[in-house]
Amino acid sequence: MDLLIVGSGFFGLTIAERAASSGRKVTVIDRRDHIGGNAYSEDEPTTGIEVHRYGAHLFHTSNPGVWEYANRFTTFTDYVHRVYTNHRGVVFPLPINLGTINQFFGAAYGPTEARALIHELAGEFDAKAAQNLEEKGIALIGRPLYEAFIRDYTAKQWQTDPQHLPAEIISRLPVRYTYDNRYFNDTWEGLPTDGYTAWLERMAAHPGIDVRLETDFFDETQSLNKRATVGQVPIVYTGPVDRYFDYVEGSLSWRTLDFEREVLDVGDFQGTSVMNYADADVPYTRIHEFRHFHPERAERYPTDKTVIMREFSRFASRDDEPYYPVNTPDDRARLLAYRELAKGEDGVLFGGRLGTYQYLDMHMAIGSALSMWNNELA
Ligand code: FAD
Ligand code: UDP
Repeated sequence: MDLLIVGSGFFGLTIAERAASSGRKVTVIDRRDHIGGNAYSEDEPTTGIEVHRYGAHLFHTSNPGVWEYANRFTTFTDYVHRVYTNHRGVVFPLPINLGTINQFFGAAYGPTEARALIHELAGEFDAKAAQNLEEKGIALIGRPLYEAFIRDYTAKQWQTDPQHLPAEIISRLPVRYTYDNRYFNDTWEGLPTDGYTAWLERMAAHPGIDVRLETDFFDETQSLNKRATVGQVPIVYTGPVDRYFDYVEGSLSWRTLDFEREVLDVGDFQGTSVMNYADADVPYTRIHEFRHFHPERAERYPTDKTVIMREFSRFASRDDEPYYPVNTPDDRARLLAYRELAKGEDGVLFGGRLGTYQYLDMHMAIGSALSMWNNELA
């Protein structure tokens, strides 16, 4: 073995594929019973509808290198992501755009009038100087829209005072003074034609890659554990960085999600793939309806059944799956301490969402793995 990779998500598999394609022998371990990390998907057994087990995953990128690389393993459908939100029983388009603004104010503003109105409503804050999510949200869309669409949704999603959340979380959502309600701004987007798992399996299929599932790096009853391998073989570690160092600097805080999946006896439940619920009195943040991710499969999917998934968000304990880094000031201080420890860990590189404690979209995980391969490993 020339390289051991801990974790078979997009980060780990990209490194594995690059290393194997340049003639190295690679072993990838994962503690789960399947490859692919959180991007894994599977067909719901009674309907055959593809569901994303760890939450809906939409691929989008403006990075030509990542797009070219992804297309070596899969083609993409022409799916364009659009999200709607239910506020007090009325459905509005997201991200906040001229349609949302006019529906909310019962008006017919053009872009210039809408900008002037939002500027006036946002008067108290300046987007460039905004220190936290609340200031940024108000600066971008004004207090009334912030309170309707952002405040309570964010409270449900993060259970952290928006004044203690970084402004970047909300910067992921564009605000548009047109009726364009594409959720993403990227050059390319789509869903893998044959599903995520087919894509991930093609990445792992190289004969130079040996994948071992249900193998935990910290389980000393298994041969490929931390104590037995560090210093013996180069390692790329994509699990949680605090776990690697036995939490010596304290736990980094994460949010996890609980998913409630249901098969319904209707052909179409909500008419779209994702409906957010903006209000505090609805306990879930959103409902996904998976058939709408693949309209091109209409003939294959049943007409009298559909699969939905309600998403609930809460703080993760050490036994939960970590999904979103909370990134409070305390977390950032701990992360710096872990980065120092990581520098001193000879022969081990830390990568991916968990290994760097960063929110990474799939294209960012792939892009950062390609850079690590080219700059540090090749
Ligand atoms: P992961 O996919 O988390 O893989 C890490 C792997 O390491 C896991 O398989 C884990 O089991 C394994 N591992 C951890 N510890 C150990 C251990 N001790 N021993 C062995 N194995 C271990 N991105 C988008 O681009 N679009 C989206 O719409 C999108 N939606 C998302 C929705 C949710 C709810 C979440 C959580 C993420 C979403 N993402 C989305 C991000 C996407 O999931 C990540 O970019 C991608 O998973 C990152 O890959 P990774 O390899 O870094 O991490
Ligand atoms: N957000 C919100 N209301 C919404 C959708 C998003 O307040 O209806 C905020 C919320 O703080 C969320 C952030 O915008 O965490 C990023 O949203 P995105 O849809 O990118 O979140 P993800 O899909 O990663 O959960």
